[in-house]
Amino acid sequence: MSTNEPSTLIPAAENPFDSMISRFDEAARILNLSDGLYNVLKSPAKQVIVSLPVSMDDGSIQVFEGYRVVHNINLGPAKGGIRYSMDVHLDEVKALAAWMTWKCAVSNIPFGGGKGGIKCDPRSMSAGELERLTRAYTRAMIDVFGPEKDIPAPDMGTGPREMAWIMDQYSKLVGYSSPAVVTGKPLVMGGSKGRVEATGRGVMVACRSAMLKMGLNPYKSTCAVQGFGNVGSISAKLIEQQGLKILAISDVTGGYYNPNGINIQEAIAYSQSHGDQLLGFTGADPISNNELLELDVDVLVPAAMEDQITGHNAPRIRAKLIVEGANGPVAASADEILNQNGVMVVPDILANAGGVTVSYFEWVQNRLGYFWTEERVNRRADRNMKEAFEHVYQASMQHNCSLRIAAYIVAIDKVAQVTQLRGGI
Ligand code: GLU
Repeated sequence: MSTNEPSTLIPAAENPFDSMISRFDEAARILNLSDGLYNVLKSPAKQVIVSLPVSMDDGSIQVFEGYRVVHNINLGPAKGGIRYSMDVHLDEVKALAAWMTWKCAVSNIPFGGGKGGIKCDPRSMSAGELERLTRAYTRAMIDVFGPEKDIPAPDMGTGPREMAWIMDQYSKLVGYSSPAVVTGKPLVMGGSKGRVEATGRGVMVACRSAMLKMGLNPYKSTCAVQGFGNVGSISAKLIEQQGLKILAISDVTGGYYNPNGINIQEAIAYSQSHGDQLLGFTGADPISNNELLELDVDVLVPAAMEDQITGHNAPRIRAKLIVEGANGPVAASADEILNQNGVMVVPDILANAGGVTVSYFEWVQNRLGYFWTEERVNRRADRNMKEAFEHVYQASMQHNCSLRIAAYIVAIDKVAQVTQLRGGI
């Protein structure tokens, strides 16, 4: 197993933490944030790195590196997913943790921000190996996690199965059943109705809210979605249901383009029956992931990973609206170019907040011991997203800035106010 790549090897503009800080700086300047508060809010509160020895199926022992970063807990316990990927590194986890702080603040959720990750390739590991790895990680994080302290959730490479292992391992260690320690659990063991679809649903609501402001008619609009995991596939399905034609989708096997529109239900069924991959899907012609980003569509939903749109390809983006399903898909180097070209970008910390919103509802239901109907979950989540969008939109009008900087302004202002009110520094 290769070791963690030092962050200095990542080009500055593409380093996700630098990308986060450059937007944070701009919002802090507009807010006139004092130097003291600036330093408090940009610094992660806690960074934990652990070595996780795991027995592999072939009898060998491999040591994996695991991370958890708690960025800020002024609004409430830290909240954020756990990512399993070979690309995980400390600066990525730090950026993702900070984005969770801003995401919760902008969405009016009483949580702080955290994020975790393990540098591993989950696709090449057996279920047994992944279970042993997840339990080792939970044991290593026993002093970090807790329903009142830090509540993990799924992210790239993890899902309900891993959350079930975390819940079980944590509960065994503390000696009682503790469903509220993690969200995104399977429904039968305290998960929330609507959680699986929540991020994609929020992306759809954010997309619809932005289209309304732009006067775009969904029935006359086209869309391309990059990434076909939980967020990409469900966003595509729900955006298609709004009347838009989805001209292109993609996953790790490449892009798929059909000028007449792709049938998303068919694509989802195909991917599910082919090892979660679109390879060989005949409802569209193959294109590259880069070509997908530059297609002549009205709406682009990057829902794969960070830094997909950078200073290099931003001038060639033809979409009028970008709705960020992934965290950090537009690098800071692309912001100004997209702005100048009149592309509206609904930023990640707003657009993909539907997931953490329903995670919050799951945590509330676990603590209540009383479960809501799917209709109630969706209604409350949709309302939350619409309100957050409107709040950010108004801030962008007031400060004459992009939706991204407006979202940072709303979030930083809130966390700064609470930090001052709490005092004690
Ligand atoms: N991983 C998701 C995100 O980036 C969900 C986090 C959560 O539900 O805590 O927003």
